[in-house]
Amino acid sequence: MSKIIIAIDGYSSCGKSTVAKALAAHLGYAYVDSGSMYRCVTLYALRKGVIKDHSFIEDEIIKLLPEINLRFEFNPHTKSSDTFLNEENVEKDIRQMVVSENVSKVSAIHQVRVKMIAIQRELGKNKGIVVDGRDIGTNVFPQAELKLFMTADTDIRTQRRYDELNSKGQHIPFIDVKKNLLDRDFQDTHRKENPMVQAKDAIVLDNSELSREEQLQYILKLIKDLTLSVD
Ligand code: C5P
Repeated sequence: MSKIIIAIDGYSSCGKSTVAKALAAHLGYAYVDSGSMYRCVTLYALRKGVIKDHSFIEDEIIKLLPEINLRFEFNPHTKSSDTFLNEENVEKDIRQMVVSENVSKVSAIHQVRVKMIAIQRELGKNKGIVVDGRDIGTNVFPQAELKLFMTADTDIRTQRRYDELNSKGQHIPFIDVKKNLLDRDFQDTHRKENPMVQAKDAIVLDNSELSREEQLQYILKLIKDLTLSVD
């Protein structure tokens, strides 16, 4: 038995979670969406009225942290894991635009990162896990056996996110969706703590022109070529 850790980092809305879920299902691995954790903290702070008009006092967010419990539960219908915030399934709520607009500022807070990273490392302690995010291969699991850095053309990423929001009844103009992606990418790559950077040993995957199945096959071939044992 030699299960591995697969770290998938990259830009906003470039399909990391789609390929990570497919890969985890194929390998019989757990899937952890680290972005959903930062989204939960943001949602909680919005609900508590700590974030107002896109601004907040850092200490007030830090004070909320002990009240936040997170866990994931496999959903047999979607064949993916749902995110629970204090025992409430918030999978839909954390994808709202208002959360996306505030999450990068919240995720830049040191104490928020410390708490989320501790949970991520605990979830990965027995390996056999696919984790996606921004700092997984560089900071959370620098020892991960396979690291991917995903990217895609900005308009293609925007279109995917726009379609996803639309299908969930959130009709946001294309230009606003694009602005949110670019803003988040800028903040995530320029923050002081654990900024998003490509790990030196990461393999770049530009999926602009690739289907979900092509991406999955590409990664499975990488695992084979690198002679990584996954069971
Ligand atoms: O992956 P997703 O787009 O849902 O992530 C939401 C936000 O959470 C990112 O824009 C980033 O600010 C933050 N994040 C992070 N570190 C991670 C994963 C996500 O800072 N490992």
